Amino acid sequence: MRVKSVRAFAIRSDLVGSGATTPQTRPSWTNDAEVANPMSRYPRYKRLRSTWRPQWPSVGCLVTATDGSWGFGMTRYGSPVIDIINEHMGPLLLDEPCMATEKMWDMMLRITSPYGGGLASYAMSAVDLALWDLKGKLLKRPVYELIGGPAREHIECYATGNDTDWHMEQGFNATKLACPYGPADGVRGLAMNEEFVAGRRKLIGDSVELMLDCWMAFDVDYTVRLAERLRAYKLRWIEDCLMPDDLDGQAELRRRLPMEGLATGEHWYTLGPFANAAARHSADVFQPDIGWAGGLTGCLKIAHIAEGAGITVIPHAGVNTPYGQHFGMAIPNSPYGEYFVASAPGVPLNEVRLTPNMQTPKNGIVRPDDSPGFGMGLTLEDITAMCV
Ligand SMILES: [Mg+2]
Repeated sequence: MRVKSVRAFAIRSDLVGSGATTPQTRPSWTNDAEVANPMSRYPRYKRLRSTWRPQWPSVGCLVTATDGSWGFGMTRYGSPVIDIINEHMGPLLLDEPCMATEKMWDMMLRITSPYGGGLASYAMSAVDLALWDLKGKLLKRPVYELIGGPAREHIECYATGNDTDWHMEQGFNATKLACPYGPADGVRGLAMNEEFVAGRRKLIGDSVELMLDCWMAFDVDYTVRLAERLRAYKLRWIEDCLMPDDLDGQAELRRRLPMEGLATGEHWYTLGPFANAAARHSADVFQPDIGWAGGLTGCLKIAHIAEGAGITVIPHAGVNTPYGQHFGMAIPNSPYGEYFVASAPGVPLNEVRLTPNMQTPKNGIVRPDDSPGFGMGLTLEDITAMCV
């Protein structure tokens, strides 16, 4: 079986939440909460990340085989990524054997090497996920079996977001906060961050794991000062503290905070940064996003690099997609799945699915659908309806 076509297109990016019918009990924290971010130093863009992030739609990618079978992948960043797939890498993959996911991943990496970087990695991810979905359908097995799973009965999930009381009500036993303040808020921001974390620790008690996501907002010095202040609240890890390219800074964080759990990698693309961090053991948890860092093939390679260094891999928002759920079912050094709670309190989690068959956490655990491929339950008509 050969690749007959590779086609990318814009899809609606508001899929999460669009199926909800139960009224919310209050608006989601995401509506207006300030989150420390890389642009916080510029006052006119400080208050909300939406003031400076691009409005590009999400991206769907359909790979079709010579017998008419197909697979579907998803990623982000609209027309730049769509152009990379449709006008560059896609046509060069035609007539390749459908099963050759390793070869095609290597081809895509090399094809895009003259420009490379994040956007190329998003494009590779969409094609790779579509190829794995196709492979599962051709072999009539769920993808997690094709990659050596299951490693476990179900995935234990943690909930990300600042509606902590709602997460506890949903039965999660681990939760991660988005840090509100950063270096731009000075010493007062340090105190307000401490007050925020202390309040949440008091709410959840000592038997629930608590983590803090810093979304590229800090520098080494600020991270060390904040970590010192937060020591009493027993954070499982602090995450994504530095700008993504600052690999030396990450190693310095490890040196200055030897006892702190450090997680990062959400904005790292393909293998280089992960190999660097594994060699220096500059993080305890790698967090590649399966739709951004090189797809399933990329995340499997990252997981193996991590395994050799004694590092765990908990993909960014892995439980929010069928792709990440299949990875989480199969990979032994992936002890948790992240579920970003994008819906408002009061709305049952299973009302906000990305695809018809996608499973959502219940009492903090999830198990992906077992049907072939990624078990998304999508038809070609559904995919057409998703197009913008
Ligand atoms: Mg994060």
